[in-house]
Amino acid sequence: MKKIGVLTSGGDSPGMNAAIRAVVRKGIFHGLEVYGIYNGYSGLISGKIQKLELGSVGDIIHRGGTMLYTARCEEFKTIEGQKKGIEQLKKFGIEGLVVIGGNGSYMGAKKLTEHGYPCVGVPGTIDNDIPGTDYTIGFDTALNTVIQAIDKIRDTATSHERTYVIEVMGRDAGDIALWSGLAGGAETILIPEADFKIEEIIDRLKRGHERGKKHSIIIVAEGVGSGVEIGQKIKEMTNFETRVSVLGHIQRGGSPTAFDRVLASRLGAYAVELLLNGKGGRCVGIQNNQLVDHDILEILDQPHTVDKSMYKLSKELSI
Ligand code: ATP
Repeated sequence: MKKIGVLTSGGDSPGMNAAIRAVVRKGIFHGLEVYGIYNGYSGLISGKIQKLELGSVGDIIHRGGTMLYTARCEEFKTIEGQKKGIEQLKKFGIEGLVVIGGNGSYMGAKKLTEHGYPCVGVPGTIDNDIPGTDYTIGFDTALNTVIQAIDKIRDTATSHERTYVIEVMGRDAGDIALWSGLAGGAETILIPEADFKIEEIIDRLKRGHERGKKHSIIIVAEGVGSGVEIGQKIKEMTNFETRVSVLGHIQRGGSPTAFDRVLASRLGAYAVELLLNGKGGRCVGIQNNQLVDHDILEILDQPHTVDKSMYKLSKELSI
C-alpha cells in the first residue's frame, strides 16, 4: 500500500484532529502518501481530496472540531453514491481509507468494505455509543464540559434553593448523562436505557427536601424526553422552584482533554498499522486499555450497553 486517505464524518467530536494527525504522521513515518478527504462522504463523492504533509497537521492536536470538516451526506447511503466515492479514491490512487466518526459513519465504511474497498473505522463521537470500544474519541472531553456546567449550575441551585433539571446529549446512549451525573453528584439520572417513574423522582426530591437539602440536580439524557417537560412536571407535582438548563452544542466543542488526545493518537496510528498489514474491513477500539480491532461487518450488529452497575451506584449514592 502506497497511498491512504482519511476523512471525518457525522457529528464532530473533540480529538478528531488528534486522530487525523496520527493517521497522517504514522502514514508518512512508514513511507505512505496520505490524502485528506474534506467534508466527509460528501467530499469523497465530489473529489474534495488533497495530499497532506507533515506540516498540514501541525498545531491541531489541541483543537476541537475537525480540520477536514464533516458533513451528513444522504447520497452516500445509495449504491450509486458509494460507487462514485470508490471511483474518486481510485482516481487518486488511494488504496485504503480511514473513517473517523460515529455509528452512521461506520455504516458508510461498512458499505465500502462490502464493495471490496479496504476501510478502517476509528470511533469519533462524544456519545460513547460505538460497540467494540470502551471509549470513543471525544467522550471524555464532552463529559468534562458537562461537569463544569453542572458545578456552576449547582452554585446557583444552592444559593437559590432550587431544583435544576439539566438536559445533556445522548439520543440513544446514556453514557454522558450517567458519567456526568455520577461525577457531578446528581440526585437523579435519567437515561434511555432505563425506565423511570416520575413518582419515584418526586419521592426522592421530597425526601431530600425534608432532610434539609438546599438543592437538587436531575440529569436527563435527551433521548429520554424533553428536560423542559420533565421540569414542568416536577414543578407541578412538588411546587419546588424548578429551573431547566439544556446544555446543547457546547458539549461538542472545545480543546480535547489529554485522555482524548492520547486515545485519538493511539487509535489513529493503529488504524494505519492495520492498513499497512493489509487488514481492511476493521474498526479499532480500546478495551481494558489494550488496542483492539473488530470486523466492521459484524460490529454494528452488537448493541452498545451502558454500565448498569454505575447506574445502580448512582442511585445508592443519592439516596
Ligand atoms: P454522530 O453519532 O456523532 O452523529 P455519525 O457518524 O453516527 O456521528 P450520521 O449522521 O449518522 O453520524 O452518519 C454520518 C454519515 O455517514 C451520513 O451522513 C452518511 O453519509 C453516512 N451513512 C450513514 N448511514 C449510512 C448507510 N446506511 N450507508 C452508507 N452511508 C451511511
